[in-house]
Amino acid sequence: MGRAFVYVIVGGGVAAGYAAHEFVKRGVSHGELCIISEEPVAPYERPALSKGYLLPEGIELILRTRVKSADVRRKTLLTGTGETISYKYLIVATGARALRLEEFGVNGSDAANVCYLRDLADADRLVNVMQSCPGGNAVVIGGGYIGMECAASLVINKLNVTMVFPDAHCMARLFTPKIASYYEEFYQCKGVKFVKGTVLTSFDFNSDGTVTAVNLKNGIKLPADIVVVGIRIRPNTTLFEGQLTMEKGGIKVNAKMQSSNSSVFAIGDVAAFPIKLVGETRRLEHVDAARKSARHAVAAIMEPEKTGEIDYLPFFYSRVFTLSWQFYGDNAGEVIHFGDFYGNTFGAYWIHKGHLVGCFLEGGTKEQYEAIARAIRVKPRIEDLRRASEARFGICIVF
Ligand code: FAD
Ligand code: NDP
Repeated sequence: MGRAFVYVIVGGGVAAGYAAHEFVKRGVSHGELCIISEEPVAPYERPALSKGYLLPEGIELILRTRVKSADVRRKTLLTGTGETISYKYLIVATGARALRLEEFGVNGSDAANVCYLRDLADADRLVNVMQSCPGGNAVVIGGGYIGMECAASLVINKLNVTMVFPDAHCMARLFTPKIASYYEEFYQCKGVKFVKGTVLTSFDFNSDGTVTAVNLKNGIKLPADIVVVGIRIRPNTTLFEGQLTMEKGGIKVNAKMQSSNSSVFAIGDVAAFPIKLVGETRRLEHVDAARKSARHAVAAIMEPEKTGEIDYLPFFYSRVFTLSWQFYGDNAGEVIHFGDFYGNTFGAYWIHKGHLVGCFLEGGTKEQYEAIARAIRVKPRIEDLRRASEARFGICIVF
């Protein structure tokens, strides 16, 4: 049993949705495009992507179906239902999975009150567990994006929240100690407690297998009614191991999002692509990169001669409580903080080899965020570090 399509997208997340949108915008005929996703719903970041664009245009949407294996030489995929799907062009948009505690030697992830957060099903489950223990104790494992955003939501929902992570401060891969201390103090004022520089070693369970406490390497035991785990992700590359070139844990693609096999493109979290700004190949785990890499891949497939090289400016952001920050570029080199760390608007810029390469801004206006994005894209030369550090507001040194 088999079906053939011109374009097949494996995965039904953000990147898949935007790729489908781009195909529809550029014009695909009925039956040319197929999306295979193991999730039970269409790509769901924006309702319009799944309802307005995908279904009426004759896209074949194969849901609740996992692709079990791929053969890039024969250009075929084998699904969990035993169907063979062949393609002319394949877009890999399989994203990533949350790393599990078991991968760090801790058992108990399957307990009913231990939650991860990657997809809609995870989110529904987390909300159910949270609602089952009003006013209870929440332990958040990990001090990255998931940890910070979930801790804020849990404390807003009136749980007693403790965050546990191995680093000296939260968001260690992006924040400087000074930036981190602002957020940690803000969180503490909201009631969140921090246990830093240690990791979880085991759980205590009650007789029905529910976690009652977490035990930390530093000897502390924290009572827990709910545990939320955000300890990084791993790209879903297994289907293509040994068939496509890998880099940075993902599928290596060129500036047209094309892998080492010319019929296979990769987009979103799973793709490692060239970032001109930093002159190296990177894998980015953010929604803006998923959207833009998706559009670029489709353009490169449908209009190869008119499509140049992707020139992506890394962009990360988060919003928690009343806080909102954006970051553009690369956090390499020397850091210069600016603004009012006792107020609402502050940030930092990064100067690497004499050029402004990155900027973080909390509490900026739309115009300020647009200005720092423009500035980073130009990568201006900074002649005078002293003047730069005296500047009250980072962007004023640029123009
Ligand atoms: P995903 O969206 O993960 O989609 C992958 C899809 O592939 C899924 O549908 C999966 O089921 C499917 N799949 C995988 N393997 C197979 C297979 N073998 N067969 C069939 N289907 C398969 N980024 C930001 O920039 N800002 C934010 O505020 C932000 N918030 C986030 C909040 C949460 C809770 C999470 C989890 C992520 C957040 N991100 C955010 C990150 C952002 O969502 C990801 O970068 C983005 O989803 C990546 O898109 P993707 O399509 O590559 O992967
Ligand atoms: P992150 O990489 O952001 O953070 C992981 C955190 O877990 C780090 O603090 C890390 O410390 C810590 N950690 C690693 N191993 C352990 C361990 N054994 N025990 C305790 N802590 C540990 O990943 P997340 O899981 O938070 O996020 C998953 C994905 O979701 C990311 O791709 C992220 O980009 C995305 N996301 C993005 C959002 C946004 O952009 N606003 C919002 C939500 C999710 P260390 O650094 O030392 O390894």
